Amino acid sequence: MQELLMIPGPVTVSSDVLAACSKPMRNHRGPFAAGVYARLAERLKDVFQTSETVLTLGSSGTGAMEASIVNLFSPGDRLLALPMGAFGDRHIAIARAYGAQVEVIDTEWGDKPDPQRLRDRLARDRAGEIKGVIVTHNETSTGVQADLAALARARADHPALLIVDAVSSLGATDVRMDEWGLDAVIGASQKALGGVPGVAMIALSRRAWDAAERAQMPRFYLDLRKAKTAFGKGQTPWTPPFGVLLALEQATDNYSKEGRHSAFARHARFAEAIRAGCAALGLRIFARQGAYSNTVTAVCAPGDIDHKALQQLLRERYGVVVGGGQMKLEGTILRLGNMGAIGRKDIVTALAALELALRDSGIEVPSGAGTAAANAVFARAEAAKPRVAVG
Ligand code: PMP
Repeated sequence: MQELLMIPGPVTVSSDVLAACSKPMRNHRGPFAAGVYARLAERLKDVFQTSETVLTLGSSGTGAMEASIVNLFSPGDRLLALPMGAFGDRHIAIARAYGAQVEVIDTEWGDKPDPQRLRDRLARDRAGEIKGVIVTHNETSTGVQADLAALARARADHPALLIVDAVSSLGATDVRMDEWGLDAVIGASQKALGGVPGVAMIALSRRAWDAAERAQMPRFYLDLRKAKTAFGKGQTPWTPPFGVLLALEQATDNYSKEGRHSAFARHARFAEAIRAGCAALGLRIFARQGAYSNTVTAVCAPGDIDHKALQQLLRERYGVVVGGGQMKLEGTILRLGNMGAIGRKDIVTALAALELALRDSGIEVPSGAGTAAANAVFARAEAAKPRVAVG
């Protein structure tokens, strides 16, 4: 059975992206490769909404998270983190592994950080001891999106560098790196841009590049100065995952043809349809209202249902693959992603399968309610589209 991949990354990729990774191998230091790096970097500037160089690293997203720490800070530096789930905690763990002192402003999982708490904490740091602020834009483990623009405003004129994990938001929602004054923005190939896994992306602000010259944390493979110097020569410092880069070049090409705003609207509409469908099936949306992600929806089934068994049933009986809970949410939620080359029919299919799997698990669900609710969202979106006058 062909599986329908509805996890929040890696995502289903389009056939032209898949074909791009199977092209003949080329010299990664030759003129063809230099053209690929240059074109890809140009398109990524647009995605990051920055005039700075966007570097690609041969690693998963976590590599760029690590790069954002080791390139900008020194052991003993004080950092402030605003985690709201498993990936925020991972960023803290990386910083601590390299000797940073990380103070945490906690947010309950399912909710988003309060920008006022960031503003207040930084206002009390008159001596400017806090060197960096770490935020997760979209917390994939809980299905929550932070208000990045508000967090950036809350940093105000404090000198701390603002580090943003935008792995599961970049491409799906607004990330205005330059306008909002973000100092490090991190992405990954296998999420909303619709590439295959294996490449991380990172861009640094001018201030962050200055910090990279002073930073004392150990680094070698992830030394962004090496990556930038190589980029200037049409190269990468190490052998890159070339097929993954070709796939990403195709994916970003498709993305720019679709247009940023249309991609944002698509993700918002798909996530809304999934939320509406799940709610109509009696599932609770884990994220608080107003904190919804537009790339991943975490849901809780009623009663004391075993979510791992439900996930297994969905996969084995209906061919629909969704994510489970991570860390302290293990076994308590399902996560449905809506990034990548999927469409309305896939979302409706996933909701129909969910209805069946819930019923198989002994839960009474109204027949067809999930798909009807999702279709109502699609119909509303369709009706709201501006009509072109004919005749
Ligand atoms: N941050 C977020 C928000 C993520 O969703 C992920 C991947 N799910 C990561 C970081 C880590 O990326 P990777 O698995 O590619 O290392």
